[in-house]
Amino acid sequence: MQYISTRGTAPELSFEDTMLTGLARDGGLYVPKSVPMMCPADIKALQGLSYEETAFRVMRPFVGNTFTDETFFEIIEASYKNFSHFARAPLVQLNSNHFLLELFHGPTLAFKDFAMQLIGQMFQVILRNHGERITIVGATSGDTGSAAIEAFRGLDTVDVFILYPHGRVSEVQRRQMSTPMESNVHALALDGNFDDCQARLKDMFNDFEFRDGVRLAGVNSINWARVLAQVVYYFSSAVSLGAPDQKVNFTVPTGNFGDVFAGYIAKRMGLPIEKLIVATNQNDILHRCISTGEYRKHEVLQSYSPSMDIQVSSNFERALFDLHDRDSQAICELMDELQNQGGFTLSKAILNNLQHHFSSSTVSEKQTLKMIQVISQTSGEILCPHSAIGVYAAQKLHDKEIPMITLATAHPAKFPDALEKANGLRAALPGRMAELYQKPERVTKVDNNLEILKNLIQDRINS
Ligand SMILES: *Cc1c(COP(=O)(O)O)cnc(C)c1O
Repeated sequence: MQYISTRGTAPELSFEDTMLTGLARDGGLYVPKSVPMMCPADIKALQGLSYEETAFRVMRPFVGNTFTDETFFEIIEASYKNFSHFARAPLVQLNSNHFLLELFHGPTLAFKDFAMQLIGQMFQVILRNHGERITIVGATSGDTGSAAIEAFRGLDTVDVFILYPHGRVSEVQRRQMSTPMESNVHALALDGNFDDCQARLKDMFNDFEFRDGVRLAGVNSINWARVLAQVVYYFSSAVSLGAPDQKVNFTVPTGNFGDVFAGYIAKRMGLPIEKLIVATNQNDILHRCISTGEYRKHEVLQSYSPSMDIQVSSNFERALFDLHDRDSQAICELMDELQNQGGFTLSKAILNNLQHHFSSSTVSEKQTLKMIQVISQTSGEILCPHSAIGVYAAQKLHDKEIPMITLATAHPAKFPDALEKANGLRAALPGRMAELYQKPERVTKVDNNLEILKNLIQDRINS
């Protein structure tokens, strides 16, 4: 299996090199050259399998010969053994034909653990084989950083630097990044918002001298392996509700478009998904684009759902590439326009294409809190604010004939302030994390400045 860049000029790479490379050298994102299909019989054969067995069958064709079957299965088992729920991604019924897919039973209580744990294991096997050391730099709106630090802490093949927007992540998110004391872990509080963090990260990747000098690797959702890991739970949940004989819909609380793009890949592979509903908070660039075709940056607003406080959704480029019949020239033109004019407008034909697969809804702060309250009263399920946005959008757009699966992307205890506002309760952290609030913290505050960041990273890895 080979991977190509959405911008058309970076070299084709194997799975292993795609994973180690992150952002393509032409500024694009890697996608599989062709998407492997699972026929209805292959999907039917997933019925009754464990999460790990499902993961193996769904991901195997994408991995090529990077790992043997045996090693790949060991990697998968090691990735999910620290989840606190045997099903890994259990489904809970909320309402008539509406189900919640709980993706928060991993070590840092958000769905990011599904991909990050897997990437951590894969990096370790590959780098150990090559006897190499690399530098991982990631940007986070909160959950990616904690999941990455958890997955890479203490590994001797990797230094991990995480840029998060100072003062804009929840206390639990911050503490999950600042309390691990391993010397290869570096939490950096950047003076700016998430888009600034993501922009500085892209600058580092586009500075080839720096990139090659520190052996830079990325774990943001620009990394294809992240998307791939997330394809699995679309299959496992749809199959539990009767796929391939039964169609399903999904609603996905969305920021960077990585999670919902994994759903799109599942659909391309043959999973009978009718619609993917993109649920956004008041930072609604994707909702505006899916409803009108205009993709235009606005100011980022802080919300109760900080992991979705994003205006430029990196992975949307992967979807646009497919919707333009993989015309990389067209993608380069759109991305130039985004860069230089702050946005672009899709043609009518492309918009129709987009709307064929995706619907969307934006959810206000007030509606988010209300939803947390209503769902706790009607089902006893406590939603985090991101998941509440999903449930709200799902209920608004739900076609009752087709089962709806809404992704619950984080554990409510990660966002205690929003919860308290919604229903006066503070959700307790699971027992294994009870001491988080007592541990000492270690963070470096940094300016939103590329040179300063590059120097800091070079100093740290050479010390
Ligand atoms: C990252 C995150 C999202 C958004 O996922 P994307 O893949 O960026 O669209 C939603 N909810 C939570 C809790 C997250 O951590």
